[in-house]
Amino acid sequence: MACRPRRRWAPEHAMSALISCGRHGERLPVLACVHLRSTFPKALFVVPADDEWPATAWCGLCEEARLADRGWYDAADAVAQWDWSCTRCLEDSIARAQHTTFAAGPAVQTPEVRSDEV
Ligand SMILES: [Zn+2]
Ligand SMILES: [Zn+2]
Repeated sequence: MACRPRRRWAPEHAMSALISCGRHGERLPVLACVHLRSTFPKALFVVPADDEWPATAWCGLCEEARLADRGWYDAADAVAQWDWSCTRCLEDSIARAQHTTFAAGPAVQTPEVRSDEV
């Protein structure tokens, strides 16, 4: 099972837009959890980019929070503290992770309303 952050976390970058990475220059954006900025987690979770969304990546710590929160809701979002990274940074993280889980595409978005709140 896989989910991705809700749309509100990806407003400022259209899929075609590049970001300016401090390490790699102009690159496609990746929505990454804050931990990927400063560490190379052992466990990595990646949702590849699709027509609507940039690639999304998070670490094992955030995955635990996401599972506990049953999706990307406030508690898990607060752990992840989403920020923009670049595709080369993501490649580095993948290269150094011990295990990378590639999740499926757009059908796995977190619903806006949690199922137990409907
Ligand atoms: Zn994380
Ligand atoms: Zn980069």
